[in-house]
Amino acid sequence: MTCHVVQFFGGIGSWAAAQRVVAEHGTRDVVLLFADTLVEDEDLYRFLDDAAEQIGVPVTRVADGRTPFEVFRQRRFLGNARLAPCSDLLKQRPCRRWLETHTDLADTVLHIGIDWSEERRAPAVVRGWVPWTVSFPIRDSPHLTKEQMLDAARAAGLEPPRLYALGFAHNNCGSLCVRGGQNHWAHVLEVFPERYAQAEHEEQRLRAELGSVAMLRDRTGGLSRPLTLTEFRERQENRVPEPQKG
Ligand code: SF4
Repeated sequence: MTCHVVQFFGGIGSWAAAQRVVAEHGTRDVVLLFADTLVEDEDLYRFLDDAAEQIGVPVTRVADGRTPFEVFRQRRFLGNARLAPCSDLLKQRPCRRWLETHTDLADTVLHIGIDWSEERRAPAVVRGWVPWTVSFPIRDSPHLTKEQMLDAARAAGLEPPRLYALGFAHNNCGSLCVRGGQNHWAHVLEVFPERYAQAEHEEQRLRAELGSVAMLRDRTGGLSRPLTLTEFRERQENRVPEPQKG
């Protein structure tokens, strides 16, 4: 029987993908594969447990054992919106190792929760997983919006991961994704000031070792330069609130 491995990292897209995989193939040969970065939001684990019970398949956990900032320190490179080695080292590689050890390449499909609105990412994802066969169950119609997927989870008796309700687009790395831009980090500062402070501290430690590196970039005046989380926070704190309309 073909083994169906769902990349199950805690996002609502991967849950929706798992629903379609199980509806088509049953649960017997399905694996829910979760790569733990060790900095996930605590509610992500609660959601994984609840979802596993609802789907009827236990979660299979893999972990590199490092956090994203530990990767950056060891690689002497601070991840950012353009290049994030943490994704490859903490997610793709542990999953690939698991696939190589536990499945038969000729009879395994890896299902990934990329939806129709992220179509442009699909070719690179397929290339990245060569020689494994990749499928995108929620890219097919009926197309669902993220809100519809969240509603479907609620209808199935699940409380969605809390990061969505807190206004984050993704449920990964406890909101501290180095790929997020200024709007994302402004939101982290507002919702999780203590997590922002932790990331700021880690960035400063790396700057002490690597020099003028930063996750964000400032592009005011047509010039692009590193923008530290410290400087960005100070800007946010000194921002004059916009007058209320009406
Ligand atoms: S979610 Fe962001 S910080 Fe976390 S592993 Fe992926 S790219 Fe890195």
